[in-house]
Amino acid sequence: MILVTGGTGLVGSALNFKEEHILLSSKDGDLRDWEQTKAIFEKYQPTKVVHCAAKVGGLGSNMSLKGDFYRDNIRMNTNVLDASLEYGVDKVVSFLSTCVFPADVTYPLDEKKIHLGPPHHSNYPYAYVKRMLDIQSRAYREQYGCNFVSVVPVNIYGEHDNFSLEHSHVVPALIHKCFMAKKNSEPFVVWGSGTPLREFIYVKDIARLTEWALENYEDPEPIIFTTAQETSIKDLANMVARLMDFKGPVIFDDTKPDGQYRKPSSNEKLMQAYPSFTFTTLEHGMEQTISWFVKNYESARL
Ligand code: NAP
Ligand code: GDP
Repeated sequence: MILVTGGTGLVGSALNFKEEHILLSSKDGDLRDWEQTKAIFEKYQPTKVVHCAAKVGGLGSNMSLKGDFYRDNIRMNTNVLDASLEYGVDKVVSFLSTCVFPADVTYPLDEKKIHLGPPHHSNYPYAYVKRMLDIQSRAYREQYGCNFVSVVPVNIYGEHDNFSLEHSHVVPALIHKCFMAKKNSEPFVVWGSGTPLREFIYVKDIARLTEWALENYEDPEPIIFTTAQETSIKDLANMVARLMDFKGPVIFDDTKPDGQYRKPSSNEKLMQAYPSFTFTTLEHGMEQTISWFVKNYESARL
């Protein structure tokens, strides 16, 4: 039995294991609470856990909700790994993020650089908590022999994302903003200068990689999931406008933050471990995501 925490989120809803699995939501229990977490493990007796649950957000919420990001995530992670230890779970795959990397470090980012210096000031509570997920996994492996591994995806986008205008990541935010701009015949306003660079990965690629990691990845050191291709926010915004057939002006609001300028990462380790893996192109992934959003606007997370 595979237990997926955060099974109703962007990543969780894309996972589709052949083996019996349970996709948990916060309605099944609050993972910040130890008794509720234990009750879930008691009920399902999982042999494998994919730990996706987290308080997640883009630059805006990471900057304004620093205390909540710290408290909620440290509790959820500690509880899920402790319950996995207590219930003798054979394998745990936990989700880190490339936000965890030091702000001042040589590029490209690789798996050996996670702990080499302080993270960017805009998201340091989330970043440090995610780093501790790696530390807790390794410590439990060394002391108790647990097969707990972690994966480090870049910016994920796709169906079932959080499309909030203020609190989401850049891809869903821009899709929603462009949709509204088109609907109201207003300019499409993008935060910042448009010059920052990001790497994006389609959620269905993350699902295939997670299924692979659960079966095959055993290394105590995390593994980065990235296409290793950077796209500027300006190019991304123009792609959204083109794919949504938006003909009005695209404006860059430089009163809004740019965040980190770039954080290119390496997929050398991934490509060595899984050489046959092929990534969905950004163009195709964006077409799928936009089409899903337009069809599901009424029920999407806004
Ligand atoms: P998401 O869409 O925001 O989903 C979060 C999930 O966590 C939801 O299923 C939510 O349940 C659950 N959850 C939140 N608080 C909970 C609580 N207190 N108790 C129980 N469940 C709770 O997140 P995501 O984008 O799929 O992210 C999945 C993982 O990937 C996270 O660990 C994240 O840090 C990591 N990651 C994400 C990105 C990205 O770009 N999205 C990039 C790198 C890494 P409800 O639906 O019931 O609220
Ligand atoms: P980050 O990689 O953790 O910084 O996460 P985001 O997915 O929030 O991407 C932030 C980058 O996108 C920054 O350079 C922002 O200035 C830019 N951006 C442009 N418009 C938006 C928006 O509407 N929402 C967000 N979150 N970022 C935006």
